[in-house]
Amino acid sequence: MLKLDHLSCGYGAVEAVRDVTLDVPAGSIFALLGPNGAGKTSTIMAVMGHVDIHGGRILLDGKDITRRRAVDRVDLGIAVVPEGRQLFSDLTVDENLTVGGYAHPHMRDAAKRERVFSYFPRLAERRSQLSGSLSGGEQQMLAIGRALMAEPRLLLVDELSLGLMPKMVDLCLGALMQLKRDGITIVLVEQNTERALDVADNVCVMSSGVQIYQGTGSEAKAAGSLFATFLGMN
Ligand code: ATP
Repeated sequence: MLKLDHLSCGYGAVEAVRDVTLDVPAGSIFALLGPNGAGKTSTIMAVMGHVDIHGGRILLDGKDITRRRAVDRVDLGIAVVPEGRQLFSDLTVDENLTVGGYAHPHMRDAAKRERVFSYFPRLAERRSQLSGSLSGGEQQMLAIGRALMAEPRLLLVDELSLGLMPKMVDLCLGALMQLKRDGITIVLVEQNTERALDVADNVCVMSSGVQIYQGTGSEAKAAGSLFATFLGMN
């Protein structure tokens, strides 16, 4: 569904990602792993259209979207759950969801909201609560829910597990598995290799802006302790 073809990108003259080629099959979970500064966030921001492309191509369903505006990519069905969640802390759960669906009036807002609550019943119980007063795990659920309000076919999730209790990581990963079963393709950026390998169909490991490993989830699991030790990852 998503292909990166020799993609290089960065920030002005700074090259953050160099010559990355990967293929994310439709209806799968693709894990992008690696230590701090590896270029994982820059890679998904390139897919969203938020960094400078230095070379290569981004293909969605075979169509070249490398030069498409970020806003057009949302219309093509790509949404991101940003690192650190970036919720509007003084807005309620409901209001944050409204913001997520604002530019996408294809389905009725109420129907989309109910769909989000079917994945995250805890959010339904807290719909009038300010998002800033939610627990870290609930905030991550809301960040995913807000992205779902844009009705994506491809969901890019940055650092899902960062700062969350193991039980909350389980709940959020469980929701991603359910989204996959419902036909949404997911790219999951993670520093928590072990948990990512629990759900990933395919894996790419990056370090210092380049890809250093690619394989299926089970191949990576077998090689996991090797590259984990090598990279000093958990
Ligand atoms: P992390 O998990 O720490 O976010 P990452 O693998 O997602 O790491 P990136 O955030 O993509 O890595 O960073 C890749 C490189 O790009 C790093 O060297 C970083 O310093 C640089 N970089 C990131 N954002 C910017 C920016 N806005 N301007 C300049 N350089 C940047």
